[in-house]
Amino acid sequence: QKAEWAKLKNEATVTKDGVEVELGANIGTPKDLTGVLENGGEAIGLYRTEFLYMGRDEFPTEQEQFDAYSAVLKGMENKPTVVRTLDIGGDKELSYLKLPKELNPFLGLRAIRLCLEMPDMFRTQLRALLRASVHGNLKIMFPMIATLDEFREAKALLLEEKAKLESEGVEVSDSIEVGIMVEIPSTAVMADTFAKEVDFFSIGTNDLIQYTMAADRMNESVSYLYQPYNPAILRLVKTVIDASHKEGKWTGMCGEMAGDEIAIPILLGLGLDEFSMSASSILKARSQLSRLSKADMEGHTEHILGLATSQEVEDYVKNL
Ligand code: PEP
Ligand code: MG
Repeated sequence: QKAEWAKLKNEATVTKDGVEVELGANIGTPKDLTGVLENGGEAIGLYRTEFLYMGRDEFPTEQEQFDAYSAVLKGMENKPTVVRTLDIGGDKELSYLKLPKELNPFLGLRAIRLCLEMPDMFRTQLRALLRASVHGNLKIMFPMIATLDEFREAKALLLEEKAKLESEGVEVSDSIEVGIMVEIPSTAVMADTFAKEVDFFSIGTNDLIQYTMAADRMNESVSYLYQPYNPAILRLVKTVIDASHKEGKWTGMCGEMAGDEIAIPILLGLGLDEFSMSASSILKARSQLSRLSKADMEGHTEHILGLATSQEVEDYVKNL
């Protein structure tokens, strides 16, 4: 099986009925690039930049960030590279950033909320990204967006920094896509409105499931509620994909669900454009997709979304 997968390393990802989808990788540091290239990743669907900020005593400088982002963009040789701005808070803390203790950190000041509270820190990251943008195919993604105002505010800061850099004579790419993670139910519900303003969506199912089911993703006692195949989740995913396509935009998925054997056929049927997963899952997913027909899976979508429980969905897909 491994040998069969290895043959797919330099192949595009094409379904049995000839439809191409994109298989990307999730990475945490520039060191992870080797694994992406060895496993035939066509893109980076999620670069979690928080690791650059963790395990140290102070914020990374603009230059340190520029070096890391440029290394990833150069290594990807113009293949799509989605870099997520700082997603700290929740379970991820920084020793040098003293924030008040919160009762519910997963519902608190984290990710884009924190970046908008601390615009100087955020602007430094945006400048590093903009400067690096000439070295590859950069797409910038904001995490934990809950309202359109947050997106507009973050994008305005980005455009301000871009204008500043240009006035300083620094070259910045003019084709940077700016998108958001869809990982909060309000944003999935309002996807049609967001789709008019963002360039793309990437569904973060790790958090989307947690917030939709109101079940802490780290809490074993409620792990039975962590249900990627729950029709509630699938219906939200459909809402997001349909909304993006209606506006001519694309939708990816960068949560664990994107590399899941049961989820992949369902997501193909729903029209997902890009699947981003750990590099080690890419070849297996490419092999699975080459044996699936998108048209067939589209034909099953209505039935699957009408099922009542996660277990019913799982059983149905296993028996296809
Ligand atoms: C997600 O929430 O699905 C996601 C990809 O982001 P993270 O796991 O880093 O929260
Ligand atoms: Mg998340």
